[in-house]
Amino acid sequence: MSFSRRSFLLWAGATGLSVGSAAYWRWHELNTGVTYPGRTEGHFLRDHQPLPAPSKILQTDVVILGSGIAGLTAAWKMKKLGQRDCLLIDGPQPWGNAAAGQFGELAYPTGAHYLPVPGKEAFHVREILSDLGIILRNPDSERPYYDERYLLHAPEERLLRAGKWQEGLLPQEDVPAAELLEHQRFFREMDVWRGRRDVHGKRVFAIPSVLSSDAPEWRQLDQLSFLTWLEQNNYHSPTLHWYLNYCCRDDYGRRYDQISAWAGLHYFCSRLGKAENAESGAWLTWPGGLQPLAQAMAAGSQRHSGTAVSLKKTPQGVEALCFELVNGQPQTFLVRARKAICAMPLHVAARVIEPIPGFDPAQHLPSSAPWLVANFLLRQFPQELPLAPLAWDNVVYQEPGLGYVVSTHQDIRVAPPEKTVFTAYLALSDKTPQAARHWLESASAQELLAAASVDLQTAYGWKFASCVERVDITVRAHAMAIPAPGFRSNAGLQCLRELDGPILFAHADLSGFSVFEEASWWGYRAALLAMK
Ligand SMILES: Cc1cc2nc3c(=O)[nH]c(=O)nc-3n(C[C@H](O)[C@H](O)[C@H](O)COP(=O)(O)OP(=O)(O)OC[C@H]3O[C@@H](n4cnc5c(N)ncnc54)[C@H](O)[C@@H]3O)c2cc1C
Repeated sequence: MSFSRRSFLLWAGATGLSVGSAAYWRWHELNTGVTYPGRTEGHFLRDHQPLPAPSKILQTDVVILGSGIAGLTAAWKMKKLGQRDCLLIDGPQPWGNAAAGQFGELAYPTGAHYLPVPGKEAFHVREILSDLGIILRNPDSERPYYDERYLLHAPEERLLRAGKWQEGLLPQEDVPAAELLEHQRFFREMDVWRGRRDVHGKRVFAIPSVLSSDAPEWRQLDQLSFLTWLEQNNYHSPTLHWYLNYCCRDDYGRRYDQISAWAGLHYFCSRLGKAENAESGAWLTWPGGLQPLAQAMAAGSQRHSGTAVSLKKTPQGVEALCFELVNGQPQTFLVRARKAICAMPLHVAARVIEPIPGFDPAQHLPSSAPWLVANFLLRQFPQELPLAPLAWDNVVYQEPGLGYVVSTHQDIRVAPPEKTVFTAYLALSDKTPQAARHWLESASAQELLAAASVDLQTAYGWKFASCVERVDITVRAHAMAIPAPGFRSNAGLQCLRELDGPILFAHADLSGFSVFEEASWWGYRAALLAMK
């Protein structure tokens, strides 16, 4: 359930957030809807709003609270292991950050949109993909064979810089030779790190991250920012810096001066995925982002709508009090189970379970990055520059925008579809997370739209507006944990990662950063423990 604000905007001229040429933009009436997943329910929890007495009691063996990738992995794995008595409580947003929306027949992501093909280390992801029929052959080999419909096809990425599109996201054209040499040095160094292991044979940067080496010489990389590490290692190329900063903003929601060097390097050095029928480092994607995966993982699971307000241990196991908003009015029910898997974000869990043993929210709760995802339904494709074909991911050499992804990219019909959806991503990394949340809370639909469309304005100018039929904006105020310097030493997270007992935890937050492989790892682990 989410609060929705829908408005018709007549937007002509500049907004405070637009850049340069935006002053000359003329927007037609744009039908813009804004959704805030989890906001109403979150405020119920935060404000301890009164709730009626429970109207029913549900009994199950294992209850999973949260239907994001972590909770879904737990449900999928338990089902596979033969657990039939398991109940998944969706929480305020089914599929969490992997949720999608739909404009008629056109699906679009409102969060996660791709999954890198997993290496052997990420065996849990391979197992999921194999079970769901996405890996067609040899799931345990170095190079499994994937269903080609989901392998991202060319052109994958392009970058708009100084008025010209170029292939790939790292600036290459009109870049001084000395900078290009530095780019090469950086990637050679990443290759070395990718193969580096500690004395026990553990990789320095593994995915899932919990399999990474804990040796002190690597841990110290977590004490500095990625920017500092680059400077210490004599990387000064402005184009390389722009690219690496972009990668941090895109993966972690913050600028590289606020991201742990360990996390910055992990992004480049952890993944070893290969496919028999694709280049190394290929990606999987769907028009609706990762929602089709989420839905397939949930197939056959028992689900119930609702949001947990409290989760307590009892002599028999656990008891969760949940509520649902029915016509805006709260209704409550109790779930009693032998075990619970708490698969909600930790900032929510901290209000639902008081206290969490070993985890002090004041000290251990990771700061979270707010994100905006704006989906533009286009009645026609905008005009591209000559010799610059639209790619799947289209990025502009500026910040804080993260560019836009084309939802119909994998459509392999001979002629392009008439309509499409462009998904613009924006982590509000130009503000502190607190200031960004404050702004998101009060911003009008028009202001949100202006912020989300800066890159599209730069790419297409005012003519873009005439292509737009509708816009759907998703505001994720607490979208993902930020791996700030020191995050690997968070004792509270370590405690939750090792916890066993009637209440288990599973969420990407346990890793301190948010990607599919990490979220599903904790769900997989929790499923095995819940079956004991
Ligand atoms: C904009 C954006 C883009 C992203 N893109 C990618 C990408 O392309 N690839 C990638 O790998 N990762 C991406 N991510 C990271 C993504 O967060 C993870 O891949 C993954 O989906 C996280 O899953 P999760 O289960 O840990 O958490 P969440 O997705 O946060 O799920 C939490 C669940 O808990 C539920 N919940 C909340 N409160 C309660 C409560 N009180 N009671 C019960 N349930 C509750 C929610 O309804 C939700 O179902 C992106 C994230 C964002 C925000």
